[in-house]
Amino acid sequence: MDLGIKGRRALVCASSKGLGRGCAEALAAEGVHVTMTARGGDVLAAAAADIRKAYPGVEVTEVVGDITTVEGREAALKAAGQIDILINNAGGPPPGDFRNWTRDDWIKAIDANMLTPIELIKATVDGMMERKFGRIVNITSAAVKAPIDVLGLSNGARSGLTGFIAGLSRKTVRANVTINGLLPGPFYTDRLKGVAAGQVKATGLSVDEILAKRAAENPSGRFGHPDEFGQACAWLCGAKSGFITGQNIVLDGGAFPGTM
Ligand code: NAP
Repeated sequence: MDLGIKGRRALVCASSKGLGRGCAEALAAEGVHVTMTARGGDVLAAAAADIRKAYPGVEVTEVVGDITTVEGREAALKAAGQIDILINNAGGPPPGDFRNWTRDDWIKAIDANMLTPIELIKATVDGMMERKFGRIVNITSAAVKAPIDVLGLSNGARSGLTGFIAGLSRKTVRANVTINGLLPGPFYTDRLKGVAAGQVKATGLSVDEILAKRAAENPSGRFGHPDEFGQACAWLCGAKSGFITGQNIVLDGGAFPGTM
């Protein structure tokens, strides 16, 4: 299926690994020129090289930097040029007990998972509206719909972003600029493995045992693959997806138990 976005330009934040990389690859497969960012230059360079090799007609630009900082965002925006597609992503906040979180912990989470996407949208949305095409996808979390108690920083910051987008997305769609959330459940990435490693002490299980148990508990009996996430993202960015805006789409193998 041709999504009709060949030649468009995308900024895919936090994309050297995991879900962000899945999105960059799926967009490149559609002929979209991608700017990829991450803090670690080596992994980013390797990921960009893989995508260049797989899709030789596509321009792949790498920007090393922390997307949650002003400098990181400025560098990414400058390198990407005219942005038609913006995929907002960054690392997730750590788990814990809210009694131990300081104001600084909250500000860090809000900066990364709420204000960074809002700043990037602010920098790009008016240009998209003038050109009558724009697709913005915020990678949030299934925890926005079904909060996970130990991820209170994530629940709070991402819900703030989701509430803000609910309003803005209705103001941009008339100019064919859509803004949607993609809410990952358990996807097999370094983040997922890291969370499992953090549970070894409390559970007395090995990382492999924790992962096997978690996968078995999902209705699908497995974890999602970043490629599957990337395909959903590319489809939301397609030329014919202009009537979908302000939605929060859960990709979780059926784990969310509600009817809607
Ligand atoms: P991942 O496999 O650990 O990959 C994270 C990517 O983001 C890496 O490329 C990392 O590179 C980059 N990154 C992290 N912080 C960054 C920053 N400040 N600036 C620039 N790049 C940054 O994680 P993932 O599983 O894909 O998760 C992506 C997002 O989805 C996270 O917010 C996570 O909390 C959320 N999520 C994931 C799952 C899941 O099951 N995987 C479920 C729910 C929500 P560097 O470290 O080199 O910067």
